Amino acid sequence: MSAIEIATEKPLVLIVGAGLGGLTLGALLEKADIPYQILERIETIKPYGSTMCISAPLLPLFHQLGIADEFIAVAKLSPRVHIHQEDSLKPAFVSDFSVFCDLTGYESYTASRPVVHNLLLNQIPANKIHFGKRILTIKEEDSKMIVRAADGTTFRGDIVVGADGTYSAVRQRLYELLASQDRLPKEDLEDLPFSCTCLVGQTNPLDPEDFLILKESDCHFSTILVKDKPYTIALLTTAQSTICWLVLHHLDSESIKTAEKQRFRSCDNSEWGPYQALAMCGETRAFSIPMGDKFKTLGDIYDNTPSDLITKVMLEEKVFETWYSGRTHATKSTPLALKAQ
Ligand SMILES: Cc1cc2nc3c(=O)[nH]c(=O)nc-3n(C[C@H](O)[C@H](O)[C@H](O)COP(=O)(O)OP(=O)(O)OC[C@H]3O[C@@H](n4cnc5c(N)ncnc54)[C@H](O)[C@@H]3O)c2cc1C
Repeated sequence: MSAIEIATEKPLVLIVGAGLGGLTLGALLEKADIPYQILERIETIKPYGSTMCISAPLLPLFHQLGIADEFIAVAKLSPRVHIHQEDSLKPAFVSDFSVFCDLTGYESYTASRPVVHNLLLNQIPANKIHFGKRILTIKEEDSKMIVRAADGTTFRGDIVVGADGTYSAVRQRLYELLASQDRLPKEDLEDLPFSCTCLVGQTNPLDPEDFLILKESDCHFSTILVKDKPYTIALLTTAQSTICWLVLHHLDSESIKTAEKQRFRSCDNSEWGPYQALAMCGETRAFSIPMGDKFKTLGDIYDNTPSDLITKVMLEEKVFETWYSGRTHATKSTPLALKAQ
C-alpha cells in the first residue's frame, strides 16, 4: 500500500475524476497556481461521445484559460440547426443561432467531445494526474482529507472535489456520512429521473463526395424527427471530416419500465462500453437521414463508426440539494447526466 502526500504551503485540492469537469477545474487551478492532483479510475482515456456545442457560457472560460484560439482551430462555427422530418430532404425549419451571438457577443462552435477532452487534458501536467486510481473511500483525519483508491494508494489533501460523474463515489460517501448524522434531505436519496435513452458516437473521417454535408465550411447541424416512431436523430459535422451523431429514444410509460429494469445502480457508470448499444443500432439502422440532395440511412453512419466507441446512455438529470459539506464538494447537478448502459 502506498501513500501519496504532496508538500505544499497552499491547500491541496484532490479532484476525483478526469472527465470534462475535473479537467476544467484542474486547468483553472493550474492557471491560478493552486496545488491540485487529479485521480482518475480508468487507465487509458477512450474517445467516447459525440459532440460538444460551446458558446457564450464556456467561451469566456476558454479565453481565461488561454485555449480559446486553440479550440476554435479544431472546431467548426455552428450558426444554425436544420430541423427535418425523416422523409424530407428539405428542412421543415431552420433555427438561426445568430440571435445568441447578438445578445452575448460569442459565436457558437461545435467540436467532437474527444477533441474538447484532449484540449483540456493537455493543460494538465503529467505529474498532476494519476490514472488507474478508483477512489473508494474518503475520510477526514486531523483536518486532512484522506482519499483511498481501490489499489490501496492513499492521497492526502485539504479539499476533495467529486468530479466523478453521474453516480459519483464522492457524493455517495458524502451522503452516507450525512445520512448517518440525519443531515440529508430525502430528495437527495431519490433516483435520478429520466425520459430518454440515447445512442452516441462519431464516425471515422468520411469522404465529402459521399457524405455531402461535410462539404460545408460551417458545422452542418441537422435534427431529424423520425416518422411515426419516438426517435430524434442529430448529426453534426466536424473540422476533422467526421460526423458526430446521436439518436434519442423518447420513452413512454411502457418503454420506461424496460429502461428502469436496465438501471444498474451499482455499475461502473463511466465505463462507456458498447453494452446494449449494438441492439439499439439494429433497431434504428433503417431510419433515413438527409445527406445533401439524397438520403442515406443511420446504418451508413453506424457502419462508419468504430463499434467499440458507440455508447448507449440514459439521459438522467437531477439537481441535488446538498453538494458540499466540510471539505468535500460534489457537483450540484448531474453533469448533463448520461449514464452508460
Ligand atoms: C457515454 C457518454 C457520452 C456522452 N457524450 C456526450 C456528447 O457527445 N455531448 C455532450 O454534450 N455530452 C455528452 N455526454 C455528457 C457529457 O460528457 C457530460 O455532461 C460530461 O462528460 C460531464 O463531465 P464530468 O466531468 O462531470 O463527468 P464525466 O465525464 O462522467 O467524468 C467523470 C470521470 O470520473 C471518473 N470516475 C468515476 N468514478 C470514479 C472514481 N470512483 N474514482 C476515480 N475516478 C472516477 C470517470 O472515469 C470519468 O473519467 C456524454 C456522457 C456519456 C456518459
